[in-house]
Amino acid sequence: MLKFQNTLTGQLEEFRPMREGEVRMYNCGPTVWDFAHIGNFRTSIFVDILRRYLIFKGYKVTHVTNITDVDDRIIQMAGQEGVSLDEYTAPYLEAFWQDFDALGCQRPEIAPRATQHIAEMEQIVKALTERGCAYESEGSYYFRITSFPEYGKLSKINFAGNIAGASERVDTDKYDKEDARDFVLWKAQKFADEPAWPTALGHGRPGWHIECSAMSMKYLGETFDIHCGGVDLIFPHHENEIAQSEGATGKPFVNYWLHGEHLKINGESMSKSKGNYYTFRDLKRQGFTPAAIRYALFSAPYRKQINFTIDGLRGHEKTVAGLQDFRARLEEARTEPGSNPSMRAAAARALEEFTNGLDDDLNTSVALAAVHNLSREVNTALDNHGLRADDQRDLLALIARFDSVLNIFGQPRREMLDAEIQALIDERQDARHRRDFARGDEIRGELAARGIILEDTRDGVRWKRR
Ligand code: AMP
Ligand code: ZN
Repeated sequence: MLKFQNTLTGQLEEFRPMREGEVRMYNCGPTVWDFAHIGNFRTSIFVDILRRYLIFKGYKVTHVTNITDVDDRIIQMAGQEGVSLDEYTAPYLEAFWQDFDALGCQRPEIAPRATQHIAEMEQIVKALTERGCAYESEGSYYFRITSFPEYGKLSKINFAGNIAGASERVDTDKYDKEDARDFVLWKAQKFADEPAWPTALGHGRPGWHIECSAMSMKYLGETFDIHCGGVDLIFPHHENEIAQSEGATGKPFVNYWLHGEHLKINGESMSKSKGNYYTFRDLKRQGFTPAAIRYALFSAPYRKQINFTIDGLRGHEKTVAGLQDFRARLEEARTEPGSNPSMRAAAARALEEFTNGLDDDLNTSVALAAVHNLSREVNTALDNHGLRADDQRDLLALIARFDSVLNIFGQPRREMLDAEIQALIDERQDARHRRDFARGDEIRGELAARGIILEDTRDGVRWKRR
């Protein structure tokens, strides 16, 4: 039974989607003001494991990730460079998807951009104003916290005191509010050169929180199943999303809230502002593989801290290579027909451990342990010729199923084509003529590893498949 730790209730709960067999989920996506760091991608990968596991369990998934392509930082940077918002964000948006794909994440069904949903945000602000949950002040609109008594139900913060943080993540603007806790929904244009959209609310731009309410409800409905993000977003961002959405519709907004712990360095959250970050590109340039980086970022369950180190990543690199070698060995093994009952039992046990782990609030450590145990047992069986053809086929299919969630094994090796083999043999002959015997031996080794045996004869080189 699939269970999630729900931030809203503080409980580990059985997951029951609103519609049988279908899941509608949302996560707060990147603010495309700069390259994302691997901390941001830890959250993307946690959400990716969630969506892949829901699909593994047979659910039809509709997943939305928003793109924040307008905020005060973006406006400031675009202004400094003298370009439009779109021109400024385009390269970072493209880089985000490149890294996201390279890290083996599945793209969400819908990835809406804030700047293309201004009308939807305007509608929510209007509805909130009509219901007394929002008010206008000097052309800007604010959410009236006193109109929503449940404010604080997600973050469990007691709002009896004075909380100034509720306003905005980067609230550098000084606007007039009724109450210090009220947060901005719509920001009036103050200067002629400030980006602004003409709406019934006046010329202005949206606040950050309203984006997510507008884009999630547009594509997933007024109430949907799962909302995720990093822990930093619980307050104020998600608390404010709930207030805006429930204030406007009078219905529950989201049933399950899942929050991922941050990626740390030396015990501190990885972040741009602290300067203690790595991008995916940095690590790739240093020779690390995407599969090992992905592995490092989900090696602990999403609600547990991960402390990132380069030494740790080197270890993960070896671990992932070991798993990939294991699968290649299994693919290439020559087996006798039939099946070995102990191998069938090992496969059944691994599947059970894997699903029990992920059913338990996506415990990826347990799921990985199941995969490692299986690889150890099968490697031993291969050493002892204890594996049969049916086991080989079933185990490869099982690994493919595990990898539909984990996505670390890479492409299965396929048989080399005759032309590819011949090209390598020609290259080896060339190398030998140049007296580059090291390269010649390397090619022989490469071919041997792929099951191709070379025979040097008087009539030239012959080859055969093992
Ligand atoms: P941002 O681009 O800052 O809006 O963040 C995008 C996502 O990355 C959000 O879900 C954040 O919670 C998440 N995030 C930011 N820093 C970290 C970190 N160090 N570790 C994990 N997730 C993070
Ligand atoms: Zn959001």
